[in-house]
Amino acid sequence: HNSAGHLESDLRRALDRNEIEMVYQPIIRLDTKTVGGFEALMRWKHPRRGLVMPTEFIPLAEKTGLIIPLGLFALEKAASELASWQRALGNVPVFVSVNISSRQLLRHDLINDIKTVLNKTAIIPNTLKLELTESLIMENPEHSSQVLAKVKELGAGLSLDDFGTGYSSLSHVMRFPFDTIKIDRSFVSNTDGKGRPVILRSIVGMAHDLGMEVVAEGAETENDALELHQLGCEYAQGFLFGEPMSPELAFKALQQDQKVDAYA
Ligand code: C2E
Ligand code: MG
Ligand code: MG
Repeated sequence: HNSAGHLESDLRRALDRNEIEMVYQPIIRLDTKTVGGFEALMRWKHPRRGLVMPTEFIPLAEKTGLIIPLGLFALEKAASELASWQRALGNVPVFVSVNISSRQLLRHDLINDIKTVLNKTAIIPNTLKLELTESLIMENPEHSSQVLAKVKELGAGLSLDDFGTGYSSLSHVMRFPFDTIKIDRSFVSNTDGKGRPVILRSIVGMAHDLGMEVVAEGAETENDALELHQLGCEYAQGFLFGEPMSPELAFKALQQDQKVDAYA
């Protein structure tokens, strides 16, 4: 076996061996600077290799079909964590968004999985969100729009991930019932030049006209956050506000904000 072969057979056992974990990166409301929600991101704690990042194993999981059980794990884990946070905070509508891969959308019964997860947990409607990229939905636009409409009906939110990296325009993705768009970090970080505010302003304006909220990805400096707020982005996510963290730390961050609110 070569190294990729080992990685594949290791990945096959990773779930059963409890090596897969979800971490949560805060998504900050720019008007209040409080945590609005989190993006759930997968991590693989490999017994010999150490921490393996999703950019390394998600493509392998997609190729082998292992993304189906891994994706379901992510969904169930994130939903149960979200439900417990909402319960503990007394129904504060914090949200969690979970990344969805092509195979999950195209070949598996995503609708039933969402239904099961939402029935099992008492989550506030639309606070469990699915993140999908435009290239993913454009692989099969007809099928995608049907599935997404049903998912939305069930009470899940929909976020358009990495917006701006594909070839579609916002008018193109308008046919899909997204409530949120996430602007790719390539438009957000990289502060040089005057082009950034122009592009961002037009994306934000169109998104708002279409009734969607905007999350800016990759906010790394105070200046980024200030500019994004001035441009009308509701939310930002990035190393400035926190790296992906354990569910325990994520809950602490939420509690902290609630206390601050209570004294405000
Ligand atoms: P993504 O969905 O666009 O997730 C955002 C990625 O950007 C995360 O990388 C995050 O750690 C990173 N990031 C956040 N803030 C900053 C910043 O300020 N600067 C920079 N340079 N990077 C930032 P991560 O966790 O390595 O995930 C990479 C990709 O792997 C994700 O991109 C997503 O496409 C995929 N992925 C992660 N977890 C899952 C999962 O559970 N299921 C699926 N299907 N894909 C996943
Ligand atoms: Mg994402
Ligand atoms: Mg993204």
